[in-house]
Amino acid sequence: MVSEKVSRCRRVCVVGAGPSGLVAARELRKEGHSVVVLEQNHDVGGQWLYDHRVEGEDAMGRAPVLGVHSSIYSSLRLTSPREIMGYSDFPFLVRRGRDARRFPGHRELLLYLRDFCDWFGLRELVRFDTRVDYVGMAAGAAEQGAGGAAKWVVRSTGKTGGKVVEETYDAVVVAIGHYSQPWLPKITGMEVWKRRQMHSHVYRVPDPFRNEVVVVVGNSLSGQDISIELVDVAKEVHLSAKSLQISEGLSKVINKCPNLHIHLQGYKTPSLFLNEVSILVIGFPFFESQAKWIAQVLSGRRALPSRDDMMKSVKEFYQAREAAGIPQRNTHDIADFEYCDRYAEHCDFPHLEEWRKQLCLSALRNSDADLEGYRDRYDDEELLQEAYQSAHFTQFGPDAALSL
Ligand SMILES: Cc1cc2nc3c(=O)[nH]c(=O)nc-3n(C[C@H](O)[C@H](O)[C@H](O)COP(=O)(O)OP(=O)(O)OC[C@H]3O[C@@H](n4cnc5c(N)ncnc54)[C@H](O)[C@@H]3O)c2cc1C
Repeated sequence: MVSEKVSRCRRVCVVGAGPSGLVAARELRKEGHSVVVLEQNHDVGGQWLYDHRVEGEDAMGRAPVLGVHSSIYSSLRLTSPREIMGYSDFPFLVRRGRDARRFPGHRELLLYLRDFCDWFGLRELVRFDTRVDYVGMAAGAAEQGAGGAAKWVVRSTGKTGGKVVEETYDAVVVAIGHYSQPWLPKITGMEVWKRRQMHSHVYRVPDPFRNEVVVVVGNSLSGQDISIELVDVAKEVHLSAKSLQISEGLSKVINKCPNLHIHLQGYKTPSLFLNEVSILVIGFPFFESQAKWIAQVLSGRRALPSRDDMMKSVKEFYQAREAAGIPQRNTHDIADFEYCDRYAEHCDFPHLEEWRKQLCLSALRNSDADLEGYRDRYDDEELLQEAYQSAHFTQFGPDAALSL
């Protein structure tokens, strides 16, 4: 809904300088708001800021405050091709001297995010090494903004010196991600099992599992990736899945690796736990449309639906998810193109380009058929050419996609 009232400048706090927080900061500033980003880490990147220092971390990730944010393991390569990942006005191009692969390693995405920050001058908005401990509505009439809108108190602690700072903002955008805090399955015997148990949040490299018998619980992308790299060092790897209906690609790996076995879930004596990590299929453009909408709602260019309409919609959403058997903890997994397109319509953000959708589907099909090789062998050349000739890739010059 477009409103007549426009251009109200707000003082906004964004919590987190990962892919969502950065694009939120960019959109908020573009809309004329004053923005401060509070980031607990020393750099931007969120999950993509790889951190090997997991020794001090609770192996099961049960601590209320995690010491390490990133759950990225050393060998991780993107599951989606780089062409579909970029924000609408900043394609994820190949750069000279960098990882030029279509499914690059995790560091390449961190470098892309750093480039994005530099290009749009976002670093100056970020207060690093600052952890937000509390966000709450300010009390009292004196704290009310113009028009009676509530204000927000944000309490943060600096990592160096531990100084607590309390500030008041007109609005807060929480962009802290949802892949760090581990979710643990309830498995009988888990509490009394004495040998090594860990969550994939603290998994980095396969070496500590040399000659061990390892059970990997969770047959999603990370579970499969990690199992495949463990077979080279572990004595046996048992991948525990919810269903024995597995992809052709995984069957091939199992047939090839005599020490890799797949089972239906129900282990009593595991030595390694992994959480299922599902990913938003095309995250970055979706984060961008969310950011645009937030910025425009705050400036008054867009109006939110009425409270009743929102509550009705929330109820319908949960009912539909429940009917489809999706657990509430997966509420944020809304990986479908239609949802992203409908969302974009709220703020006149373009629909996902057809080539983006098709390249994404092609990668999913390839990974199903060839789990080990899909990142290096593909047959979507025509789609790729279509992408390179699209406005997304030619906005920085006709050959930007190919220039090194
Ligand atoms: C193993 C793994 C593989 C993945 N692979 C892919 C992939 O191939 N493709 C893909 O598109 N996505 C993938 N993802 C999803 C990935 O999470 C998203 O790409 C993206 O990082 C989400 O961005 P975000 O900004 O929402 O959250 P995050 O990247 O998690 O960033 C959140 C930021 O908030 C900060 N923060 C958190 N709490 C606080 C606090 N209290 N105070 C201050 N700062 C705080 C964090 O330090 C961090 O910088 C993967 C995720 C995982 C875990």
